[in-house]
Amino acid sequence: MVLDLTRHVRTEERARKFLERQCWPSGQPVCPRCGGGRAYALAEGRVRCAGCRYTFHALSGRFAGLAGLTPRQWLRLLALFAVDATAHAMAAALGLAYNTAYKAATVVRLSILAASLDGVAILKSPLGAQLGSAARALRPNAPDEPLATVPVFGILERGDLVFVDYLPSLTPQDLLHFNRNFSLPLSRLGAIVYSDRYLRYDALVACGSDLLTRHLVEISGRAPAVDPRQTGFWPYARERLVRFHGVTAHKFPLYLKELEFRYNHRDDDILAILLANISSLVPDLN
Ligand SMILES: [Zn+2]
Repeated sequence: MVLDLTRHVRTEERARKFLERQCWPSGQPVCPRCGGGRAYALAEGRVRCAGCRYTFHALSGRFAGLAGLTPRQWLRLLALFAVDATAHAMAAALGLAYNTAYKAATVVRLSILAASLDGVAILKSPLGAQLGSAARALRPNAPDEPLATVPVFGILERGDLVFVDYLPSLTPQDLLHFNRNFSLPLSRLGAIVYSDRYLRYDALVACGSDLLTRHLVEISGRAPAVDPRQTGFWPYARERLVRFHGVTAHKFPLYLKELEFRYNHRDDDILAILLANISSLVPDLN
């Protein structure tokens, strides 16, 4: 069944109640700090935990509380995100500043990352800190800010599913080393460099390494290129990376994990999943 938000976005009040039900499915407030289920109502939708005295509201401690959008703006933005709208299109449709829409879209992507198999491990890693997850105070960086280190991901396809694994033990230098000394074929797609099969992975991929792209150019002609794959995840991802995002090193990790999510749910109604993701608590990253 496809989730239809039409009646929930008619007014801010309806949207708030709807989003509150996603956060508190039992209808009772749950304290995001201690998990307690007893709370006193205060003004303006806020409540105070009877256990630890923490004052909170439905979105406190949750991804949806990080972007400064109203509940109605959130629902409308998610519907656009689900159909792959750009941050520019979201900003125009909702009458938001581009930076506000971009930040909200980044929060959605972080919530997708957090729900993925290795998501919490990534958020806790130095890469996660660079993506904006500093403990619970999320701070999405400027989109063009360079990454201190360029991460390498492994792409593994099994049946209809893809797994995009962050490989903290590998660096772009390793890819270059495999290419030069072990004839691992590499190809380029703009700032993205990807490999042929490596151990259990269908491909290794990195984006924005000057070292890698510079030396690949130097050895072009004698390096075996990757055979273009016609089916599966990579053609799906490649087309979207080129079409939508003008991808930079900084944006790449979150986009790649978003594509993993979209590919694995390509036959599902993802709006309901996105809603659950932004309504969930930001994991404890300490
Ligand atoms: Zn509490």
